[in-house]
Amino acid sequence: MKFYQPTTLKQALKVLANEDDARCLAGGATLVAMMNANLLAPSALVSLSAVKGLAGITRRKNGSVTIGAMTRHQAVADTAALDGGQRLVREAAALIGHPAIRNMGTIGGSISHADPAADYPTALVTANATVTIENSRAKREIDAQNFFTGYLETALEPGDIVVAVSIPAGVAGAGSAYEKFARVQGDFATVSAGVVLALEKGVCRHARIAVGGCAATPIRVAAAEAKLVGSRLQDSAVAAAGVLLAAACDPIDDFRGSSEYRLMILPTILARAVSKARVRAETVS
Ligand SMILES: Cc1cc2nc3c(=O)[nH]c(=O)nc-3n(C[C@H](O)[C@H](O)[C@H](O)COP(=O)(O)OP(=O)(O)OC[C@H]3O[C@@H](n4cnc5c(N)ncnc54)[C@H](O)[C@@H]3O)c2cc1C
Repeated sequence: MKFYQPTTLKQALKVLANEDDARCLAGGATLVAMMNANLLAPSALVSLSAVKGLAGITRRKNGSVTIGAMTRHQAVADTAALDGGQRLVREAAALIGHPAIRNMGTIGGSISHADPAADYPTALVTANATVTIENSRAKREIDAQNFFTGYLETALEPGDIVVAVSIPAGVAGAGSAYEKFARVQGDFATVSAGVVLALEKGVCRHARIAVGGCAATPIRVAAAEAKLVGSRLQDSAVAAAGVLLAAACDPIDDFRGSSEYRLMILPTILARAVSKARVRAETVS
């Protein structure tokens, strides 16, 4: 196996274009574990750790926040740049694994691996984030919702590198929350929910919801969001949204919980996220 350590994005893209079956190496938290378990044997590894300009968090004048692909989870968890409707992204980062993993893993690595039980996918879909991707020929942007295409599958094609993730400022006065249910602290999500809400005199005027761990990709249901908009977020409205989301989910049975169990707890996890996001929206509106 060949090992490359480029210092520019251009060099990294060139290696990926010329090597069959090469893989980017970001934090290595997942990739190295998979190689150790003989689940993957790439012909070449392209380390992104020395590539200039891939790490860091930038808040722009329009309120959007761009997170470089090589930014570690802990840096996202610690940033003050993500606020209001963006806050759930740092909340999700803070709940990833344990300190060693948060200091090792990167946002680019996490979303490229696209584990349905991971925390960023749900949070980024909820926050209406955009993923910036480059290859040796072009650069493109994809909505997070369209980036995650299946179980451990994304819109990435051979030769692509995730360069950054951008989170728009979103709706003024919004509050957001990410809620995760895991068997033990530090585990992947059994079920997770992200919520962005904006209120006017106690009435919900904007709602965006995604749930994770309940299908191959994060699930959004427009009708569930519509149940909240115009309501006072009373228990019955939130429960109705939970029922619609559960109907659209197709969870697997695994060691984190049966499909039935996941569907049973989903409305409760959603209700917790709505309750937190509501309090936050009330304090800004
Ligand atoms: C013990 C443990 C607990 C964990 N707990 C959680 C958890 O609770 N929640 C959670 O969400 N995650 C969890 N994770 C996963 C962790 O968040 C990893 O950060 C993530 O899975 C991979 O990130 P990485 O930077 O280490 O990527 P790597 O392992 O280096 O790479 C992962 C994959 O992405 C590709 N890749 C990496 N960067 C790019 C890029 N910029 N462009 C294109 N492809 C790229 C690689 O080629 C590889 O296929 C856990 C992992 C471990 C080992």
